[in-house]
Amino acid sequence: MKTEKESTATVVKNTGSRYMLSKLPEWKLFPAIIRGRMRMGDFDSTNPVAIGDRVEYYIEPDGECVITSVLPRRNYIIRKSTNLSRQSHIIASNIDMAFLVVTVALPEIKLPFVDRYLVTCEAYGIPVVILLNKADVLEKDAGAASLAERFVEIYGGAGYDVLKVSIYDKESISAVMDRCRGKLVLFSGQSGVGKSSLIKLLSGSADIKVLPISSSHLQGKHTTTFYEMYPFPSGGFAIDSPGLRSFGLVDLDRSQLSCYFPEMRSVMDNCRFMPCSHTHEPGCAVKKALEEGKISRERYDSYLGMLLKDEKYR
Ligand code: GDP
Ligand code: ZN
Repeated sequence: MKTEKESTATVVKNTGSRYMLSKLPEWKLFPAIIRGRMRMGDFDSTNPVAIGDRVEYYIEPDGECVITSVLPRRNYIIRKSTNLSRQSHIIASNIDMAFLVVTVALPEIKLPFVDRYLVTCEAYGIPVVILLNKADVLEKDAGAASLAERFVEIYGGAGYDVLKVSIYDKESISAVMDRCRGKLVLFSGQSGVGKSSLIKLLSGSADIKVLPISSSHLQGKHTTTFYEMYPFPSGGFAIDSPGLRSFGLVDLDRSQLSCYFPEMRSVMDNCRFMPCSHTHEPGCAVKKALEEGKISRERYDSYLGMLLKDEKYR
C-alpha cells in the first residue's frame, strides 16, 4: 500500500539485500529495499539495481523505503558473472567518467584487461582517463620506468589521457582531483593497484580499507566486495569497484569492434573495403598505420584477440 507520493533518489551503496539512497548532489543517506520481482531491463542481469541508478521509491506506513523502479540508465558498465554464464552483473550506471588505475610496479599490468576495459568504455560512451599509479617507484626502478614509458607511448599514442600519479605526490593527486570535480567517477583496476588509496586521499574518508600488497592481491582476490560511492569534498563522487578479473563485454557486435579503438576509428574510413576486418583485406588503412608504427603492435594484437574471441580477452 502506498502512503506517499513516489520520489526519486540515487543508489549510493549496495550491501547485498539493502541499498542506501541519497538525493544527489545532497549527501544524506537513507536505507531502502526492493520487494519481489522488479522489472528488468533488456538483458539478463544478476542485480536489478546498481550503484548510480536513479530509482523511484515510496515510504510505507512503518517507515520502510521501497524501491519500485529504476529510471532509464544513461550508461552502465557490466561484467559477466562467469565466463560460461550468459548473465551479467551491472557494476555501475550513469557514470560521467572512468578512471582505469594501473601500475607498472606490483601487480603486473595486464594489457588484455586494459584493452578490454577501454573497449567497454568506448562502447558505452564513457570518457576514460588512465591513472598510472605508484609513479614514485619509477625513480628507483629502471625496469619499471622503461615499462611505464612504453605504456604511455602505447596508450597516449592511441589517444588516451594517461596521468602518472603517486599517492606520495600531492601535485599528481590534485591533477586527478581537477578531473573529478562535479562528476560521478568509476575507479577500476586490478586488485592492489591503489584504487582505495587514491579514493581515500581524494575523498578524505577514513573508513576506506587499504590493504598491504599480499598474496591475496597477487591472486586477484577481491578486497572490496560491495560497491559504494564516496563524495569528494570538492564536489563529485567516486565509485570503487572490486579488482575486476573478468571483464566481459556482453552483446558486443564484433563487426563494430574497431570503432572502439580510437586509433583505428580515425583511419578506417580509408580502408578500400567496407566493412573491413583489418586482418586480410588489401588496401587496409589500419594495417598500413600498423606498419608505419602509428598503431601499436600491442593494441592491434588485442584487437585480434577480441575479434577472434581469444580466451585471454574474455
Ligand atoms: P586497491 O586494491 O586497488 O584498492 O589497492 P590499495 O589502495 O589497497 O593499495 C594496495 C597497496 O599499494 C597498498 O600497500 C598501498 O599502500 C600501495 N600503494 C597505493 N598507491 C601507491 C603509490 O602511489 N605508491 C606506492 N609506492 N604504493 C602505493
Ligand atoms: Zn581495414
